[in-house]
Amino acid sequence: MEYNNVAGRIYDIQGYAVHDGPGIRTTVFTKGCPLRCLWCHSPESQRHEFEMGYLPVKCIGADVCQNACLDACPEGAISRDEAVEALDGSGLIQKIKIDRSKCKNCLKCAGVCITKALYSSGWDTTVDQVFDRLIKDRGFFKNGGGVTISGGEPMAQFEFTYNLAKRLKDSGIHICLDTTGFAAARLYEKILPYIDLFLYDIKHMDTDMHRKLTGVGNEQILQNARFLAEQGGALQIRVPVIPKLTDKQTNLRQTAEFCLSLGEAVKLVQLLPYHKTGRMKYDRLGWRYKLVNVEPPEDEFMDEALELFQGYGLNCQLH
Ligand code: SF4
Ligand code: SF4
Repeated sequence: MEYNNVAGRIYDIQGYAVHDGPGIRTTVFTKGCPLRCLWCHSPESQRHEFEMGYLPVKCIGADVCQNACLDACPEGAISRDEAVEALDGSGLIQKIKIDRSKCKNCLKCAGVCITKALYSSGWDTTVDQVFDRLIKDRGFFKNGGGVTISGGEPMAQFEFTYNLAKRLKDSGIHICLDTTGFAAARLYEKILPYIDLFLYDIKHMDTDMHRKLTGVGNEQILQNARFLAEQGGALQIRVPVIPKLTDKQTNLRQTAEFCLSLGEAVKLVQLLPYHKTGRMKYDRLGWRYKLVNVEPPEDEFMDEALELFQGYGLNCQLH
């Protein structure tokens, strides 16, 4: 069919995912997102453009590679760092360092790095290629599992996401769409018949605060949630609980009230406690992590937040 060759840009496909919707799933991560959440766990998902990443642990040393990446860089952005002891104690390794202020993301260094210590985050693909990869996991899609299309924001690459969802639906696979809700309502209307469950973030109920935390206001996001609920969509609402940023009682109460107002469309509310696991990804891209002083919420606090949501009669759980 026509839709098989629609192009898209992704940065990962992960099998055996158990946190991206019901059952066991395979998740496709599209690259590019219109939001810039301060706590984003996947900085590589934010920009649509390819970016050079560096994983020092994979670097075998400029001596061994005969300066391959240093010579490949037209900007002089790569130089020798201090030598460090190899993990297996076999001697010193001449690691490299990158001056990100000079780097133009041309990816020439990634092209010559044999160990993929230097790599390009993201690659271009087609609906056909992704479908062929996903279908191999079909035997693992247990307990209501299937495929989740995530990001980044999958709706930012609408033709790819729409056609992939359609192709999967034609094959009888359960599909979740993990979305920020920040896209045109007509696009949600178009994709709705092919999505079994929307994983839908409500990050903050106050639009000014939402803009401070994510770069965009929340009006369109709340409107789209209501629109999907009215049109028969099924929603799993996800609420990030970030200490001092989203965890005020007022915000949690208003979020719970909003979820309640969506009626039976809301199948589950998940509270997502802040964690720091994405932090090292910022180092790989040479980015500054902005929430260095924020600690994960206490278990006791999360239990109280859970009780608050359940007190509204919502089917709520901790993620
Ligand atoms: S980054 Fe890659 S090419 Fe450069 S020294 Fe390390 S292993 Fe060699
Ligand atoms: S991606 Fe950056 S560091 Fe790598 S070759 Fe290009 S300019 Fe140099």
